[in-house]
Amino acid sequence: MKRLNEVLKDWEAVIGLEIHTELTTLDTKMFCNCKLSHDDPPNTNVCPVCLGMPGALPVPNKKAIQSIVMAGLATNCEIQKHSTFYRKHYFYPDMSKNFQTTQGSVAFCMHGHLRLNVTGDGAKERPVWEDMSSDGSEEIKREKDGSYQVPIRIQRIHMEEDAAKMVHEGGEEGRISGASESFIDYNRCGTPLIELVTEPDLRTPEEARLFMEELQQTFKTLGISDCSMESGSMRCDGNISLRRRGTKELGTKTEMKNINSFKSLHDALEFEICRQAEVLEEGGVIYQETRHWEPSRKCTIVMRVKETADDYRLMPDPDLAPFDLTDDFIEECHSKIPELPDAKCKRYEKDYGLKSADAQQLAGDPEVSAFFEEALDGAKKKVIPTIANVMVNLVPSYNKLRAKQVRTISELLAADQITFAQAREVLADIDGTDKDPEKVVDAQGMRQVSDDSALEPIVEEVLGRCTGQVNQYHDGNKKVIGYLVGQCMKASKGRGNPKRFNELLRSHLEA
Ligand code: ADP
Ligand code: ZN
Ligand code: MG
Repeated sequence: MKRLNEVLKDWEAVIGLEIHTELTTLDTKMFCNCKLSHDDPPNTNVCPVCLGMPGALPVPNKKAIQSIVMAGLATNCEIQKHSTFYRKHYFYPDMSKNFQTTQGSVAFCMHGHLRLNVTGDGAKERPVWEDMSSDGSEEIKREKDGSYQVPIRIQRIHMEEDAAKMVHEGGEEGRISGASESFIDYNRCGTPLIELVTEPDLRTPEEARLFMEELQQTFKTLGISDCSMESGSMRCDGNISLRRRGTKELGTKTEMKNINSFKSLHDALEFEICRQAEVLEEGGVIYQETRHWEPSRKCTIVMRVKETADDYRLMPDPDLAPFDLTDDFIEECHSKIPELPDAKCKRYEKDYGLKSADAQQLAGDPEVSAFFEEALDGAKKKVIPTIANVMVNLVPSYNKLRAKQVRTISELLAADQITFAQAREVLADIDGTDKDPEKVVDAQGMRQVSDDSALEPIVEEVLGRCTGQVNQYHDGNKKVIGYLVGQCMKASKGRGNPKRFNELLRSHLEA
């Protein structure tokens, strides 16, 4: 198979995502009072409503509607005041009602968009430089380093409910084929789920990955879900087709399931783009089918050929009255939206003078930004860039530290009391304990000496000893000062301030 960058010279990849997010932070299910929980014993959080017993009547969860409206507002959607719940009929044991309650052509949230900031190596995947965004609304401009911004349209976000979890035993990799027994856990049945569908605006695996990442950060910030791809509370299907560069007509798409990490999403799309290109270049056709990503084999395999018509008998649910959201309700949702990652990032750049990449890293995850802001609390303004630097470059996992420890280490660094390398040692020493960094520094005798009265004798001693290097310096080899600084550092057992040593040496040599 050809590689991605070769394929994308001739072909344009067209990608659309369907992203399911469980509203894990709610207390109860979508249409009943059953507890939402992931680790209770099977079939303990069930009732006549979520099991679909005759005569049981659903009552919508107001907080779930609030969550989806917040999700819609945060992704620039138009909130539809009037919408209806539908029944989507199918037979499978994971939904004992024999229909899933979902929404029809009008969802709570319609026509939104997210802007992606594509940087670094990922930006190189998009090969055409003067491209237009998919809706033709703007020209995509590249920065000098190749990074670019692109708007991705969101078709809709609708409300639905999750099905039960099925466990198959005895077969291969937990799949139903070859299994001797199948178990059903209805605890998950009726979990509030929101499905976001994008327009086919994404053009590279990297853009798809970034979209998913940005959405995850947004939903986490809203506090509507833990958004864990690992545990399945956030799941993504990737739709992909190819068309010859320069043509407009959409090709036949395949749909990829079983994507449970950002890396899988990227790699599955990359594989599928290359596979489709090979089929098409050999004169074959792409069938509209559902494929399964196999992370261990790094390929996709056919699951099923897509049913051609909608056989779901989609119809308005007679048990649920159409919804009319009031302006007050929408306004209340609006007021609950905290500062979103994008705005936070801009604020960090503007108020604290952080580099864009650092700001992005600190603003993205709400837990990281909360930690960062706690560390800032009470710090002098000029220490803030150091705190950011320590967070981005030194702290491997902030959850093993206290914010105050990071602040103290940063203050020591900013005051030239310790070096960057020493800061790393202090962090290693603290390792999950309550230790005060100042005490660690003192106990290890690390405190960097910047006081001239202590440094001056060392400088004089080194200059007296290294006459060869001093002569070289006077002969024009200014670089030799590096060696002299090294000697001073050694003589001070690593505790002297190298910047100050350099200054003192220079003033002696130039005198
Ligand atoms: P389906 O009827 O198969 O569910 P939809 O039109 O509802 O298809 O679209 C599902 C997802 O697939 C959306 O994210 C959409 O952007 C994307 N999509 C639709 N057509 C294509 C295509 N030809 N190539 C790639 N993605 C597509
Ligand atoms: Zn229930
Ligand atoms: Mg569809």
